[in-house]
Amino acid sequence: MFKLRDYQNETIDQIYQSMKHGHRRIIVQQPPRTGKTVIMAEIARRTTVKGNRVMFVIHRKEVLAQAKETFKQQGVDMSLTTMGMVQSLNRHTDQLPEPQLIFIDEGHHAISKSYRKIIDAYPNAYVLYFTATPIRTGHNQMDQISDDIVVGKSIKWLTDHHFLAPFRYYGLGDIDRSKLRKANGDYSTASMDEALNHQIYGHIVEQYQRLANGKQAVVYCHSIESAKKVTQQFAKAGISAAEIDGDTDQGVRDRLVQKFRDQQLMILANVNLFTEGVDLPNVDCVIMARPTSSLSLYLQFSMRCLNPREGKTAIIIDHVDNFLNFGLPNEDRNWEAAIVTKDKRKAGSAESGPAIAQCNFCFGTFYRDQIVNGLCPLCGHELKKENKDYKIVNVDLQEIKDNQAVKKRKAMINKILTNQVLANVADKSPSQLHTLKEFQAYAELHDYSAGWAWYQFNNRRKHKW
Ligand SMILES: [Zn+2]
Repeated sequence: MFKLRDYQNETIDQIYQSMKHGHRRIIVQQPPRTGKTVIMAEIARRTTVKGNRVMFVIHRKEVLAQAKETFKQQGVDMSLTTMGMVQSLNRHTDQLPEPQLIFIDEGHHAISKSYRKIIDAYPNAYVLYFTATPIRTGHNQMDQISDDIVVGKSIKWLTDHHFLAPFRYYGLGDIDRSKLRKANGDYSTASMDEALNHQIYGHIVEQYQRLANGKQAVVYCHSIESAKKVTQQFAKAGISAAEIDGDTDQGVRDRLVQKFRDQQLMILANVNLFTEGVDLPNVDCVIMARPTSSLSLYLQFSMRCLNPREGKTAIIIDHVDNFLNFGLPNEDRNWEAAIVTKDKRKAGSAESGPAIAQCNFCFGTFYRDQIVNGLCPLCGHELKKENKDYKIVNVDLQEIKDNQAVKKRKAMINKILTNQVLANVADKSPSQLHTLKEFQAYAELHDYSAGWAWYQFNNRRKHKW
């Protein structure tokens, strides 16, 4: 049997409290990599001990064997337990014994019909939706299928208490996000192809060597072809790498995963495989080469390397600026607000996270309040001196929702960094400008016409003389 951690026991107590208050369909939010299956197993044990039946519904088959093992180890009475994938369970609801308690793994999917069919078939059962991210893209949210939410500890708290490893985050921007188009809830493969910089494959290896050399890494790619290219580039650099995708033979896949676990393989590139469940304990670096519009995937990707170990600091290398959509992985998020269907939300309650800044020397990406004495908290480079005004380099989350704005901002940052005149006028107002060059630079920076610069300059001259 597992000895539960204090925060896991706390969550279990909160769930029973919520039930005592009359709630029957409860969202249980727990960050990735914090042992939610153990929590489910313990509740299942307590339920079956009393002779009540439980049902465990999963989204991906990779998770099933491992979850069964955890339930058995925890002493759950398996004769009172039904475990299976949503697609098979929902076809047999009339033949299966009625459960008193249903666990939905990856509960943020549960708003879809296939899950509702199961939930509706057992109206008297308690339902627990376990998820790291109780939020959906689009209008409808989880308040439609739940009457309470239990929120777990924050990622910051878990890191401070050594349940997750601390990390360094680097945003490298090998992507033109304005080309991304959504299809079926995430970016389309065609648009990801178009948006990615073609030099990304070589760049991935270079940046790995610069930031995480010698660490075991998982690379998330947007297509089989790109995963193969990444693997080739690593091999060319003499770093052992393999690629796994949905078409890879199960035997080959198991062997490669075992090789990685045994630390005989440094790099494992994949397309959407190592997300939910699959256990890879010693990943110390994550490389994101695939943009996503799903917060759930973003956290599963980026937090894959956060299993703690004495003295470990994980490295997250984001080639596709996913942080522009979601902030950093450990941002505090308001889940109570997130579960409310959009037209029920109070106007103006849209939230934005804390300001994020970026170092133009190492491309470290961090909260602005981590900056001490104007130095990059990752590399120690002086931000102020280098960037003239690092506030301009800061990416505000309110603005980044608009790809066009980001593009402009990036272009502007580049200009400022390469052009001293632009840098000089970046934090000035027109009244502080003097030379024609300065007016022209200001016009360029703020997208004013060349005529504006001429007019302002001449106007100034007239008044002066
Ligand atoms: Zn830096």
